[in-house]
Amino acid sequence: MEETAPYPPLPEARGLRLRRFGTRLEDLEVDLSGEDRPRAITDVLVACTVPGRDSGFYWDLPVGKRVECLLVLAALAGAGEIGAGFRCECGQSLEITLTIGELLAAGRAGAGSRRAYRRRGHAPGPQPAPGTRQPGRPGVRG
Ligand SMILES: [Zn+2]
Repeated sequence: MEETAPYPPLPEARGLRLRRFGTRLEDLEVDLSGEDRPRAITDVLVACTVPGRDSGFYWDLPVGKRVECLLVLAALAGAGEIGAGFRCECGQSLEITLTIGELLAAGRAGAGSRRAYRRRGHAPGPQPAPGTRQPGRPGVRG
């Protein structure tokens, strides 16, 4: 039986699950090399959502929910932590490592993530610092 996890909480996604990306031959058809990231994310969600939905469903998902889906997929693929860079209001660069569980919980709690940063003595500015690490693509190696 294929490993799956529940979709992020959303009324229209009730009953949907996500299965791990990269475990079926057809996953190789998903083009992750291009510039069109929204399309690539949609294609991954189409591949991994069980049961499948019509394509309009994926495009209509709020961006935050699409990101949550990617985090769920990363967790399914065994990613434990994600590093993110920020620049503090005082100018210092910060690198914060959070577990995927913490990221999902912070996103669902709204302002929770901001509190987490403040506990470390700095407040994140609005923009990520240049050259910071981006979350890895779930289930994709090389
Ligand atoms: Zn600071």
